[in-house]
Amino acid sequence: MNSEKEYQEVLNKEYAGTVTTVERYINPKAVILHRCSKCEQEFYAKPIWLVGKESQRHICDMPYGDRFGVRNQYVTSRGATNKNSTGTKRKLSESVKQEIIQLAKQGLGVRQIARQLNIATGSVSYYIKKEGLG
Ligand SMILES: [Zn+2]
Repeated sequence: MNSEKEYQEVLNKEYAGTVTTVERYINPKAVILHRCSKCEQEFYAKPIWLVGKESQRHICDMPYGDRFGVRNQYVTSRGATNKNSTGTKRKLSESVKQEIIQLAKQGLGVRQIARQLNIATGSVSYYIKKEGLG
């Protein structure tokens, strides 16, 4: 996968044309924005993930798995609402915190991470600052 064209060809083969790149393809390890026409999600991922290990590929309505190959249990569905929200900060699970740190280290911004994980930007910047990455 040396070019955007080559990568898109692989994506077409793997996802039957549903997953396309939104941002310019840089290299297999550089995180870029993708779009899935099937579940209408936009998500950040490394190209190598999407065409690689099963746990890291795109599955509709699911985020990619973590670097240990464990698929995350939370869903970034747009229909998801926080019914119990009373304006207080939702407590994030340890795996979500790790995901924030991981994405921050990959160079994603607060808003990109919040969008990817479907959580508030305030929570993201809180944990990034706490880790000394902000
Ligand atoms: Zn999808």
